[in-house]
Formats: sequence, structure tokens, C-alpha cells
Amino acid sequence: MSLADITADAVRQALAECDEIGREAFLHRYGFGEPRSYFIEHNGLRYPAKAIMGAAHGYARPDLGPLQHAELKHSKLRVREPLKKWGFTVVNTAARNPTWRRDELILALDFYIRHHDYVPDKASKEIVRLSDNINAVARSLGLSGSDSFRNSNGVYMKLMNFRRFDPEYTGGGKVGLSRGGRGDEEVWNEFADHPERLHSAADLILAALSSEQGLSDTETELPDIAEAPEGRLVTRMHQRRERSRKLVKAKNRAFMKAHGRVYCEACGFDFERAYGPRGNGFIECHHTKPVHTLDAGAKTKLDDLVLLCANCHRMVHAKAPWLSMVELQRLLTGGV
Ligand SMILES: [Zn+2]
Ligand SMILES: [Zn+2]
Repeated sequence: MSLADITADAVRQALAECDEIGREAFLHRYGFGEPRSYFIEHNGLRYPAKAIMGAAHGYARPDLGPLQHAELKHSKLRVREPLKKWGFTVVNTAARNPTWRRDELILALDFYIRHHDYVPDKASKEIVRLSDNINAVARSLGLSGSDSFRNSNGVYMKLMNFRRFDPEYTGGGKVGLSRGGRGDEEVWNEFADHPERLHSAADLILAALSSEQGLSDTETELPDIAEAPEGRLVTRMHQRRERSRKLVKAKNRAFMKAHGRVYCEACGFDFERAYGPRGNGFIECHHTKPVHTLDAGAKTKLDDLVLLCANCHRMVHAKAPWLSMVELQRLLTGGV
């Protein structure tokens, strides 16, 4: 008795049999219980994966007959892999998918607001594209989950989840699905009334995503700074811009030319004066333009950068929202 004898065709025959006699009778006939985790998704319906494979064995090898539950008991992977190879969708309902991050929620809410009058069908091109984008964003944030991870079904559900905050739905007495994390509400409150800002945040996230292509893990590591309202990917992109060697060099050179030395533009700290030759030319760059005013493809101008010592720079980014230069100055002069 071996799973290797089963063919895709035999699986299709088993699926047809299950359709014909009904799931309960099918499980009973082959001696399986209601599955706890593994299902085959086929034509919009879910089938018990192991029972289907057991029955399929009987179709593939009539001489040996169907596989029993006991024979399939410890074969999670072996059931799943051939099915996937034949193009069947296997879902593990026991695996939980991670909570949605801000970056993903912004993309979903932007879609929701733009399709407010008519949310496209689950299987539509638009939802599939959205699901692809969200999937890519989630993976670059290091998230992963079950086979249904951020698929079009899940993405569609998330869109429906937003309805519970939408006065147009709740006002009419209709209430959206109640599941979803706290992040859903935060993102809704922040962005739902500012569709333009929301849309540019979504664009920026996708730009940040493509700007990470080909970078190593250390280059995309989440910096030790508070997250921008536009999420992690944009935060990382912001920091990569500040750290661009070429830009930092150019800014230092221009500042040196104008002032004869480099020092912190907020507190005046001069590394060379404090530490001697070791501190020569040492300073950090901070990008002053609020992230949401940036164009996805915009180049950083030298005027957008200020020189800050390490302490001042850390203070700017230590908490959300980041400080403006005026706010930083005010803290330093004690005028809180
Ligand atoms: Zn400083
Ligand atoms: Zn900065």
C-alpha cells in the first residue's frame, strides 16, 4: 500500500464520488472522521483531504482497495505534497495566519475606499492583484502562514471587515464581520477620511517594496526607530535614504564648504571638538521631509537633509510621530 500509486485522475474520481453521495456518507463509507485541518479546495468547495486520498487509492489500485484512516494517520506531508503537485489547493485550517500589519492594512483600505461603491468579486483580477501585492509586502516583512496566507479569499474578508467601521454600513443597521485586529481600526481612523493621503501612502509602500528588491536582509532590517504612519517598508526606505553614502558625502561636503566644519544643526555638537581627530567628519544625516509628502519616485535633495549628532537623531525617531526640527529645537531649549 503506497500513496505513490495514487494519480491525479484517481483524486478527481474520489472528489466526484464525494459530490455524488455527500460528504458525510463519503466519510462514513471510507471510515474517516471529520478532518481537523487538511482540506482540498476544489471548485469553491472544501473536501476532506485524507479521506479523498484514501478513496483515490481505491480508484488507482482496485486490486488493493482504498487506504484506511490508520494508514494515513501520520502522513500529513505526504498527502499534501502530491496534491499540490497536481495543482490542487490544500488548505490547513489549523494553521493560523499572522495578524495584518499596518503596511498591508493601508493597501487593503486604499482598495476598499477606491472601490467603495462596488467591491469586485473575490475571484476578480483586481482582488487577485491586490492579494499578490499584499502577499509580497507581508513576505518582505518576514511574515508567513498557512496555504491560505493572504490569498484572495482572506484579502476579500479583510475588505469586508472594514465595513464595521463604515458609517454607510453600520448606519443602515448592517454590521460587518467582527473579526480583525486592533490595527484595522487604527488605520481606518487615521486614513479613511483622507483618501488622497491614503492613496499616496499605498503608492509609497509599493515603491518601498520594489526598492528592497535585491537588498540583503541586513539592508532591509527594521531600524531601531519608531515606525512611520505609513508602516515598516516606508520606514526602512526612509532610513536607507538617510544613510545613502553618496548623499551623506555630498551633504557633508556642502556643509563643510559653507561652515568650515560639520556639527549638529540642532544642538551644535561637534564630534571633532569633543573627540579629536577620531571625530573628524563624523555626523549623521536626517531627512526632514515628512514621509507622506514624498513622491514615490522622488530623489532626495540636499536641502531636505540636515546634519544631526547621534543623540539628536535618535531622539527625533525614538517615538511616533517623529519630531520636526522646530520641535527638536524647542525640546533642547527647554521650551517644552
Ligand atoms: Zn545634536
Ligand atoms: Zn532621520
